[in-house]
Amino acid sequence: MYVDVHAHLIHPSFEGDEDAAAVRALQAGVTRVIVNGLEPKSNRAVLALCRRHDNLLPALGIYPVDAIARQIDRATWTHPWAPPEAFDADAEVDFIRSVADELVAIGECGLDAYWVTEHMAEQERILRRLAEVALAVDKPLILHTRKAEERTLEILLEMGVRRADFHCFGGKLKLAERIAEAGYHLSIPPVVVRAESFQKMVSRLPLESLLTETDCPYMGPDKERNEPAKVPIGVAKMAELRGLSSDAMAAALAANFETLFRVPAALPT
Ligand SMILES: [Zn+2]
Repeated sequence: MYVDVHAHLIHPSFEGDEDAAAVRALQAGVTRVIVNGLEPKSNRAVLALCRRHDNLLPALGIYPVDAIARQIDRATWTHPWAPPEAFDADAEVDFIRSVADELVAIGECGLDAYWVTEHMAEQERILRRLAEVALAVDKPLILHTRKAEERTLEILLEMGVRRADFHCFGGKLKLAERIAEAGYHLSIPPVVVRAESFQKMVSRLPLESLLTETDCPYMGPDKERNEPAKVPIGVAKMAELRGLSSDAMAAALAANFETLFRVPAALPT
């Protein structure tokens, strides 16, 4: 029994393959896949997809770069990808609140000072609004934080958020240890088979702080497209690092999933 707490099945690289990817996950023993939305379009598509599959659970949010889509200066945008489509982020927070009963978590949300270094105050404002929703409906947050890890932790502590997963954490190991000490979880993608930073986290963090994700289509064990069915490959590596059997590692991760999300890791029979 495996879990994936952060998947982007609504992504161009899964177009037309979303339902088959859900089935392949189940065949690989991945009983729970949390599919994350990022902005209005993917949020609605995530809800529709998850309604069709028992092993898919929706989490809706606003990705920090999307949160400032209205503020981004298109004339000075230098990335090879197009700037995000502008939308009303406050109206989207209200939409997420309106469907919160159906969600397993709020997110993806957070702070990103890597792709964009401006408009951090607006990123924070939207993160805080989403954290308020999470607190009001008693659901965990799924966080993206890059080059702003410490600030994200400060905000959670200040707001009294108790349940959160830091996905694909790329900050310092010492800070990861503080995050774990504060009672939050950190999820590890299958790239752990070849990424030393994630291997260190798996070796050093308390077992009860760890979760598994894919961040698919990214962060795979190889150069191919990642997908939920590849979670067991990462878990085997995590088990080796902790000196456990794969079954014992998977059982610990399933228990951590149940603690954070308050949903059984096993599918109802
Ligand atoms: Zn993501």
